[in-house]
Amino acid sequence: MTTQYDVVVIGAGPAGYHAAIRCAQLGFKTACIDKSQDADGAPAPGGTCLNWGCIPSKALLDASHKYVEARDHFGDIGITAKGVTPDVPKMIEHKAGIVKKLTGGVAGLFKANGVAHLAGSGRLLANRKVEFTDFAGAIQTLEAASVILAPGSVPVEIPPTPMDGDVVVDSTGALEFTAVPKRLGVIGAGVIGLELGSVWSRLGSEVTLLEALDDFLPMADRRVAGDALKIFKRQGLDIRLGARVTASERKGKKVLVTYKDGEGEHQESFDKLIVAVGRRPATEGLLAQDSGVNLDERGFIYVNDLCETGAPGIYAVGDAVRGPMLAHKGMEEGVMVAERIAGKKPLVNYDAVPSVIYTHPELAWVGPSEDVLKQRGEKVKVGTFPFAVSGRALAANDTDGFVKIIADEATDRILAVHVLGPQASELIAQAVIALEFAATAEDLALTMFAHPTLSEAMHEAALGVHGHAIHVANRRR
Ligand SMILES: Cc1cc2nc3c(=O)[nH]c(=O)nc-3n(C[C@H](O)[C@H](O)[C@H](O)COP(=O)(O)OP(=O)(O)OC[C@H]3O[C@@H](n4cnc5c(N)ncnc54)[C@H](O)[C@@H]3O)c2cc1C
Repeated sequence: MTTQYDVVVIGAGPAGYHAAIRCAQLGFKTACIDKSQDADGAPAPGGTCLNWGCIPSKALLDASHKYVEARDHFGDIGITAKGVTPDVPKMIEHKAGIVKKLTGGVAGLFKANGVAHLAGSGRLLANRKVEFTDFAGAIQTLEAASVILAPGSVPVEIPPTPMDGDVVVDSTGALEFTAVPKRLGVIGAGVIGLELGSVWSRLGSEVTLLEALDDFLPMADRRVAGDALKIFKRQGLDIRLGARVTASERKGKKVLVTYKDGEGEHQESFDKLIVAVGRRPATEGLLAQDSGVNLDERGFIYVNDLCETGAPGIYAVGDAVRGPMLAHKGMEEGVMVAERIAGKKPLVNYDAVPSVIYTHPELAWVGPSEDVLKQRGEKVKVGTFPFAVSGRALAANDTDGFVKIIADEATDRILAVHVLGPQASELIAQAVIALEFAATAEDLALTMFAHPTLSEAMHEAALGVHGHAIHVANRRR
């Protein structure tokens, strides 16, 4: 029996569930297939983001940050906190509760919007047919006018460090430790490695990050990355750059890791090892040979800027297609595709995708780094403002970092904003809005900001672009 839909979405991560809900809002008969299950085997829509990514990692980052504040910094502001200890099983339980609430929330939103939530696997066949296999193995064929592929991504494994799910784990396993490992190794000092390394370091692990690249966070602005590296080292993260892992060997309850750097070969023994070397598109078993959809040379589902695959009526969105692997990028693509199916003409502005690293301080940016802009031959002017002189940051005892605004020298248009500092993830939204509205540095400078706020650093940096910052000495021009 074939069931007819207007739209079938495969994958209920942020890209897929946004697409499905928007399609249903637009009046389409929509089904969304998702194969994620929780520990009890129940359907768990929400994808990597809600189950094993953004949300659970932030739950542990927030909890471990609060612990460090109480342990190390409450005394600075006149609060005596004695005997503060982390309760890791309780933290994990708290995290699991949030995940359950949010995945249940997606299921509820599907119901409220009339999306048929099909728990199981989807496979794209020829002519916009989709084979759906439920958890019990029953198969049915669905037929749709449009199909949106949103299968997401999975962690990359590397041959020197096969996962064993116990001592050697990926990011998912690293969110489930029930005790603090004494010595923790992390392969990869990228976003995920830094966030998870920070969680366990705050809770008491000795953390060593082995990063094959010589540069730290090459995608970030050089000054932001340089200052962040110093701060993270001060916090106790042992970040070794140019360190390429070549082998690992399980030794009882530990793992012995061999790596090479400019000085030769080294070995380190760890109680747990997190492999955080990147993610790859989850396309196994997704496409029948005659589906008409192609992969690009890196294994991503090939799409153009409108997320069209080239096969009529078939779209792909989220981590499985080119572009940054970020939940909000996939959400925007999902909504764009739904609206284009409905005949509207929205676009995703790939020049205004914010990036955030939720360490403490946080890193956040939108637009290219100053180096990249200069390599492109752009003539720029820059304004910066340090949180060390922000009244609100001082009041909060949280003064590391700065805001940097880069504007076009001739037109004053803001090209990029980079923030290292408290709540950078929240502050960057102002910069994204500025870029979306093609604001100039003067536009921001002429805007009134509430006092005292961290946002005033954004205002002062904008003033600084023109040499008018009030609370720092401006560079002579
Ligand atoms: C530890 C960690 C922290 C992260 N933190 C952040 C963050 O702070 N901010 C941020 O923006 N991003 C973060 N990310 C990345 C973010 O999780 C992803 O970018 C986002 O989840 C991608 O969304 P998606 O919908 O494309 O895919 P996914 O979220 O991966 O969802 C895809 C869904 O499709 C299902 N699926 C796949 N194939 C099939 C099939 N054939 N049939 C049925 N179902 C299928 C999968 O089971 C899954 O449920 C983090 C990732 C990790 C691992």
